[in-house]
Amino acid sequence: MFYMRDKRAIIIKDKKLRRIRDSFRDIFFQAIRLERKKLREQRRKLMFTIDGVRLSVDDLSFDNLRQFRGLQDREDLLSNKVRRSILMCVTCGKGDRDMVYNKAYGAWYCTECYGLERLTALERAKLKEVSESCDEQAIREHSKTFL
Ligand SMILES: [Zn+2]
Repeated sequence: MFYMRDKRAIIIKDKKLRRIRDSFRDIFFQAIRLERKKLREQRRKLMFTIDGVRLSVDDLSFDNLRQFRGLQDREDLLSNKVRRSILMCVTCGKGDRDMVYNKAYGAWYCTECYGLERLTALERAKLKEVSESCDEQAIREHSKTFL
């Protein structure tokens, strides 16, 4: 069912192997949580003076503000990479599932969400294309990646 070009399904039937997969994902999530915490703490340190006075972003020096924004960018990049990785479904966020990669969208879906997206895409493909808003066109283009 999922052996289409640009689509890759990773389906594990064996219960022991599923547990091992889930354990590896848990280890990755723990490592990611630690990295996020480290970045948050670095950012938080910038927000206090040596005397413990809390600063606002507007109070930061140019260098500290640049460092603060760099840390935020790293957190955002990390979050985005995790969200689109095989560690979790980009739609429902569950990590203990078999996954399907949608190359056109650059993200992994659990088989359940992928199936729902595909059903919706098949239904949408039957509809006659009429004049659509930009949002409707974006939805239709996204939907086509599941066909
Ligand atoms: Zn899902």
